[in-house]
Amino acid sequence: MIEKLLCHRSKTLLDALQLFNENGKGAVFVVDDLGKVCGVLTDGDVRRWFLQGKELQSRVEGIIQAEFVFAKRTESREEIFNKLNEKIRILPIVDDAMRVVDYVEFRGSIHVPIASPDLKGNELKYLIDAFLSTWISSKGKYIERFEKEFARFIGARYAVANTNGTTSLHLALLACGIGPGDEVIVPDLTFAATINAVIHANARPVIVDVELDSWGIDPLEIEKAITSRTKAIIPVHLYGQPCNMGAIKTIARKHGLFVIEDCAEAHGALYGGQKVGSIGDIGCFSFFGNKVITCGEGGMCVTNNKEAYGLMCQIRDHGMSLQKRYWHDRVGYNYRMTNLQAAIGVAQLERVDEILRVRESLENQYRFLLADLDHVELQRNDFPDRKKITWLVSILVDRDVVETISGKLKERGFDVRRFFYPLSEMDIYKKYVFSNVNSRDISNRGLSLPTGAGITEKMVSDIVAVIKEKGASDP
Ligand SMILES: *Cc1c(COP(=O)(O)O)cnc(C)c1O
Repeated sequence: MIEKLLCHRSKTLLDALQLFNENGKGAVFVVDDLGKVCGVLTDGDVRRWFLQGKELQSRVEGIIQAEFVFAKRTESREEIFNKLNEKIRILPIVDDAMRVVDYVEFRGSIHVPIASPDLKGNELKYLIDAFLSTWISSKGKYIERFEKEFARFIGARYAVANTNGTTSLHLALLACGIGPGDEVIVPDLTFAATINAVIHANARPVIVDVELDSWGIDPLEIEKAITSRTKAIIPVHLYGQPCNMGAIKTIARKHGLFVIEDCAEAHGALYGGQKVGSIGDIGCFSFFGNKVITCGEGGMCVTNNKEAYGLMCQIRDHGMSLQKRYWHDRVGYNYRMTNLQAAIGVAQLERVDEILRVRESLENQYRFLLADLDHVELQRNDFPDRKKITWLVSILVDRDVVETISGKLKERGFDVRRFFYPLSEMDIYKKYVFSNVNSRDISNRGLSLPTGAGITEKMVSDIVAVIKEKGASDP
């Protein structure tokens, strides 16, 4: 590791930039022929030098400052750490000959993000291929491939790539013919995109409560909320957990309602052996950067219904007739995905099973360590006939410690997230509420923990230690 932090004084700024990239620290220690450290160079310094007219080929030795902060091996840990602050984020520890033997970093700067994408496969290769092909807009081989392969992954006949998860929901609603005067039932506990899409379609959302055990929309509440104007239900497979699709489908059949699944957090989850998204009339997915797989921004609608498929293709492309180009027989949108996004999507999809496995094993590490804590309730993974996937590892803690725990974790650089606020608590959605008891309770107690590429076993145990700490001090 130390080698990647060392940069010979004769190197160029370009070399230094490459080292920043490789070592992930945004800094290098500049050394001479004898390995003696003679300066520290950070990405901030380089930016400043560029602004002052230096070029990529300028030599590092021409810009390093004579004074820099370092520590001697003989100094105490405390003395060394006291030299660090928001500005001095990294410093070399040297021996008597001024050779770097170690380094320390500002602890406050250790930041573990809640969800970072895993882009280690063919993502860059395909992206460059798409770029070099010049098919960088919304036509190109990767779009068709992404659709075909995503449909196969879900086990649905058709897939329609589009701009994001929200536009997927909007497209699905429009394809079901939902509009003014119609009511669409949504859960209270979800990301706002679910309800926004209904409002974009000029329909009226009806917010119902969720189940205490699955956190998903409650079929009993759905049934109570149905009126003669109800046209569709949008179950949201929250935090990777499939909703009670059996009961929801039964209700939908009985009342002649569409089921549009919001699968933005549940790529690959199973209900009754079927992947979510293929169970209702249309399934909607998101490929935002924090989702299970990503293409930056992106969305996908899947369906087995040929007519819905055709409508979604048309509405996505300005409402242009599929038979006659530049002829419009309905008012559509531009919801097309680019070939560049699809290229990343195809590469992500190649590894989706592996990505899901890694995420599940991360969740299992959390589960193992959190299992016997009285103040922690894990998201359930034992519903018969359902196989949840790991989006964000999510837990409920006692209400009076949730703030303290999340505060402490943040303080130590771990990015935790409280659950979504219930929609019914926000002024703009209040008027649509039908029921919301469990949703408020769950939202008040929920925490999502760092889940994604780069989370190590050590990080998991550090995070769990903080959660435990709080439990211990609370009798
Ligand atoms: C992320 C998300 C969406 C929206 O997806 P975007 O791609 O960000 O538009 C919709 N519903 C749920 C439940 C989500 O988590």
